[in-house]
Amino acid sequence: MAGSTKKKKEKEIKNAWLKYDEKQLKEVDALSDEYIDFISECKTERECVEKIVEMAKKLGYKNLSSVKKAKAGDKLYAVNKGKAIALFIVGKEPLEKGMKILGAHIDSPRLDIKQNPLYEDTELALLETHYYGGIKKYQWVTIPMAIHGVFCKKDGTTVKVVIGEDPADPVVGISDLLIHLAQDQMDKKAAKVVEGEDLNVLVGSIPLKDEEKDAVKANVLKLIKDKYGVDEKDFLSAELEVVPAGRARHYGLDRSMVIGYGQDDRICAFTSAKALFNCKSTDRTAACILVDKEEIGSVGATGMTSAFFENTVAELLDKCGNYNELKVRLALQNSHMLSSDVNAAFDPNYPSVMEKKNCAYLGRGMAFSKFTGSRGKSGSNDANPEYIAKLRAALDKYNVFYQMAELGKVDQGGGGTIAYIMAKYNMEVIDSGVALHNMHAPWEVASKADIYETEKGYEAFLKEI
Ligand code: MN
Ligand code: MN
Repeated sequence: MAGSTKKKKEKEIKNAWLKYDEKQLKEVDALSDEYIDFISECKTERECVEKIVEMAKKLGYKNLSSVKKAKAGDKLYAVNKGKAIALFIVGKEPLEKGMKILGAHIDSPRLDIKQNPLYEDTELALLETHYYGGIKKYQWVTIPMAIHGVFCKKDGTTVKVVIGEDPADPVVGISDLLIHLAQDQMDKKAAKVVEGEDLNVLVGSIPLKDEEKDAVKANVLKLIKDKYGVDEKDFLSAELEVVPAGRARHYGLDRSMVIGYGQDDRICAFTSAKALFNCKSTDRTAACILVDKEEIGSVGATGMTSAFFENTVAELLDKCGNYNELKVRLALQNSHMLSSDVNAAFDPNYPSVMEKKNCAYLGRGMAFSKFTGSRGKSGSNDANPEYIAKLRAALDKYNVFYQMAELGKVDQGGGGTIAYIMAKYNMEVIDSGVALHNMHAPWEVASKADIYETEKGYEAFLKEI
């Protein structure tokens, strides 16, 4: 299937797999293998930031706060509270000429453990959770789950937790009712089949000997104390996330896809970071910003609405010896951004929610949305056609496969991203990214060709815009 297609015909094919030669197929595999490792190891925003910092340091990136001066060619990063990161390659042009910004989010739907979580009922120990982001709750029961996160102790130390990923580890999970007793449950609406308050995670069933009250709970607390040196009160200042356990995998008999947890939006985060890491030199400053809290509205100090990025740009200008308030504003206003988030790929099982001429398809490359939103594009960032034309020229120059896609047909639903927040600075922004099947389910599916095309698209953006 590879190699023989003539240049002229390449323009007509839509499926990216048809254009690859042997060398490119190897590159597709290599990138997706690295990606599979990334999403298997990084299942929280903190783990993503840690990994990206490790990758950046190997390439000579330095912490912005540790340098006194910055100049063209410097590679710098700034971390916000361990849960968001901005990376820069300082350009030859002054910062106020604007930046080329790749942005994505690194938080994903999951179940967060509450602050007073542990209780015992009929000699079973359970943890209370509050789900994070939009989920179909019935999808999150009867699957092996892992616990990732941190306990922050009063003495100022932080203890990291990862239980359920090593094959030797135990996993935890949430029960569902057996079909034999589910007559009433099966009559309920899907939104009520499993209710949020019932997403309680089963974590133990052995009573501690000689303990009179809540002996199973006491045993779980003893295990946690022995392993992590924390007691029950330390849940008050913990951030623990219950996520699907286990590694991402190759998907499809032809291994053309990836199934894994948290691909929304670590698939765009990973490819954005890789494109920056592959960027050798740049005229205008190149940036990559990976943020938290998108799934709950980009709120909070580590979300996109935080002043973190703006402050970091101010600090960078200062270290370039060039700070004033106007220059900060110009640096943002004159920027171009690919605000990347996942899109919905057409699914033959559910054709009715899509408009076939204007939706994304697995294997057809990077997906762009001029607008998203719902009910008359409400909440959307409607990208300017002048900017889209520039992008088309850049992508075509490097033969990147891309598709224009709206998330679902008109008035079917819709979704928001971080694009509108960056557009407030009056910069050029468009939504782009990789299309998925099963978005927001415990296991999401992406095409390896789309991962590859999207990374190449980001590289073309950094070279040409
Ligand atoms: Mn999402
Ligand atoms: Mn997303």
